[in-house]
Amino acid sequence: MENDKSLRNWLDALNLNHPLVIAGPCSAETEEQVLQIARELKNSDVSFYRAGIWKPRTRPGGFEGVGAIGLKWLQKAKAETGLPMAVEVANATHVKLALEHDIDVLWIGARTTVNPFAVQEIADALEGTDKIVLVKNPVNPDLALWIGGIERLYNAGIRNLGAIHRGFSTYEKTKYRNIPEWQLPIELQSRFPDLPLINDPSHITGRRDMVKDVAQQALDLNFDGLIIETHIDPDNAWSDAAQQVTPSVLKQMFIDLKMREMTIEEDDFNSKMAKLRMKIDEADTKLLEVLGNRMKVADEIGALKKEKNVAILQNKRWNEILDKMIAEGSTKGLTEDFVLKIFKAIHQESITHQEKVING
Ligand code: PEP
Ligand code: MN
Repeated sequence: MENDKSLRNWLDALNLNHPLVIAGPCSAETEEQVLQIARELKNSDVSFYRAGIWKPRTRPGGFEGVGAIGLKWLQKAKAETGLPMAVEVANATHVKLALEHDIDVLWIGARTTVNPFAVQEIADALEGTDKIVLVKNPVNPDLALWIGGIERLYNAGIRNLGAIHRGFSTYEKTKYRNIPEWQLPIELQSRFPDLPLINDPSHITGRRDMVKDVAQQALDLNFDGLIIETHIDPDNAWSDAAQQVTPSVLKQMFIDLKMREMTIEEDDFNSKMAKLRMKIDEADTKLLEVLGNRMKVADEIGALKKEKNVAILQNKRWNEILDKMIAEGSTKGLTEDFVLKIFKAIHQESITHQEKVING
């Protein structure tokens, strides 16, 4: 699969002068909703219309999709607008129904990619078709599992393939719904340079006000396209309401996003720079998160000291920390001077926090 140039054929055949755009609601809700959104997206940069028919939900009781009836609505939307249709499939029955209804693009969701049995069942059901199949990353940051899913389809003879980067679950609270961990799609891109790579800023951010920034980051990293959840009335959407944008916001986004048209050398330099900057930004965000968590621990220590009436400053303990950190720092290429400066600042902030807890 590594050197198979034909992986890009389906994308090249679209002959776009801009990144690929897939847009449409998280879920098909009613026939009217499906049609209205499709009408708004017709005659725009959108190449494929997306809508979930079967919705994998974390807990039972949520809206689990309208089911096969939605496929009829998508067929109608396609007949009226000419937009090719994309749906999520999670088992062989979904594939069979999607094929019967002439769906053009099938994607495998993050909760399905984690399960090799399910992916194999889908691959077997798709054998012999020329449908476009897009594989979302698994919910956990496991590149091998993502690649494994794509390989199962490839081995079933499917060549119109693509990968969708939708971010990864964490237990930690972050500003993202699913943290991007950009190094994974970047690694995928360098292993399979001909495999089209699409970013899903909607599921990464979970918030419509952050969608454009993540989309821009993806374009800076040379992603081939974007899949963006788009709804006529996002606030009242039956699923993922917070992250969907209206068709007019989507259109404005494509005016604002900087799409690069550059020489090969410039392009190479810029994409290398963008990758490195992304790593720096991720490291900085992690630094702040770690520092914030450290101060929360300091607050708890402050509360404990208050309870037991113990002094804030514990010189012996502090000198031990410093010695340990200087030694650890030097194994990471950090000078003693730098480690001292950082830890003095951290210590000062920690004392300030404890004082606040103790003195109110
Ligand atoms: C979706 O695209 O609506 C969806 C369910 O996405 P994911 O599989 O990325 O959670
Ligand atoms: Mn969704």
